[in-house]
Amino acid sequence: MKYQPVIGLEVHVQLLTDTKIFCGCSTKFGAEPNSQTCPVCLGLPGALPVLNKKVVEFAIKAGLSTNCSITPRSIFARKNYFYPDLPKGYQISQFEDPICQHGWLDIAVDGDTVKRIGITRIHMEEDAGKLVHGELSGPGDGSGVDLNRACTPLLEVVSEPDLRTSDEAVTYLKQLHQIVTWLGICDGNMEEGSFRCDANVSVMPVGSNTLGTRAEIKNVNSFKFVKQAIEYEIQRQIDLIEDGGTVVQETRLFDPNSGTTRSMRSKEEAHDYRYFPDPDLVPLVISDEWINRSRQELPELPEQRRQRFMDELGLPLYDAEVLTASRALADYFEAGIAAHSNAKAVGNWIMGEITRALNDSGTAIEACPIAPGQLAELLTLIDNGTISGKIAKTVFDEMWRSGKAPQVIVEEQGLVQVSDGDAIERMIDEIMAANAGQVDEYRSGKEKVFGFFVGQVMKASKGKANPSVVNELLLGKLKG
Ligand SMILES: [Zn+2]
Repeated sequence: MKYQPVIGLEVHVQLLTDTKIFCGCSTKFGAEPNSQTCPVCLGLPGALPVLNKKVVEFAIKAGLSTNCSITPRSIFARKNYFYPDLPKGYQISQFEDPICQHGWLDIAVDGDTVKRIGITRIHMEEDAGKLVHGELSGPGDGSGVDLNRACTPLLEVVSEPDLRTSDEAVTYLKQLHQIVTWLGICDGNMEEGSFRCDANVSVMPVGSNTLGTRAEIKNVNSFKFVKQAIEYEIQRQIDLIEDGGTVVQETRLFDPNSGTTRSMRSKEEAHDYRYFPDPDLVPLVISDEWINRSRQELPELPEQRRQRFMDELGLPLYDAEVLTASRALADYFEAGIAAHSNAKAVGNWIMGEITRALNDSGTAIEACPIAPGQLAELLTLIDNGTISGKIAKTVFDEMWRSGKAPQVIVEEQGLVQVSDGDAIERMIDEIMAANAGQVDEYRSGKEKVFGFFVGQVMKASKGKANPSVVNELLLGKLKG
């Protein structure tokens, strides 16, 4: 029998607010355990939560950017469960009436085909604390609770079970990751858990309309692992069914070392959590005016920008995609073309030399030592014939290293291209005189030798001779 996998993703997006969702404590990562806490996030009795407005603004932006409708009156609910990192005994989340609903993202599958992936909901919630095992300075090697992360704001983005392959899941996830980092509401750091994903996976016989029992896979903190975990889980379920077994609803943990998933606990149903509206928080009312203001404040999103790069600048799809990989990269490109009109050339240098240098040095585009205007100056030096494209690479490396302007480097190192015909002719004459044998070879029909002469002239000029002038003069002389 053939099987159809069905995948839905629940993504937790940690928001880049300075303070927590219901108190004024800092959200900074990596501080001394329990140094960023107060009665509210410690869950002390009687402490009252106060909603951080910034969290709502970020949630609205995320919703508008994923085609959701914003719920005019949304509700916070208590999700009740016990765990040592949750001192209140409940997590403040949203259950009925989450802030964003009924959205979608279009993802590209198999080249040009576009598939619409539904987004069921986006809700706001607080994160729990963290258990720290065996790293304590105190006596024994027990576990400790660090509540710095407790009450950190999260958005949970829940997709419809519309995804069918691990590739579709990764494409969707990357697109969502790009949107939240582009909006500046999340740093997107998957290793630190700022963007993390649980995958619901089930399989059903091809042609069936009844979804199979699903397993939820937790702890997947890279795009690569998402793909691995889903593929392993699909195969595990198919093997199980083929062997006459049944898939049970459970939560499974992905182990990146073995690439497998293992059972963690049987999966709770929503009613196990005894959700009820939090009596400490009033319903959140969002006016049309607020939504409209947020809509106006939205930046041009990656997809729109990609389209504009193609329509207005004539870039091919590939270039447009690479140059909109992040908002900072797209901004860099736009600053470059503001100073140089050849968008294709600016794009090529960014995708080529700039990207290579950034990767080699582990530098982010935000910290690129060559300003977009300087890159444009370098291209202008090539355009007006001051330097050759080859010498430009040398100048580029020096710009990267020293931060000097390209014009300064060219003058200091005497790199100006030699286009003067007389000077080049003199070099050619000397080289031909010193290599009479090769001249004869060429004249007897061995035209390959031409490359030897070009090489000699470039060598004699230290790479500075204008290649097209060299070619033209050489041809004339050798034929003569
Ligand atoms: Zn606090």
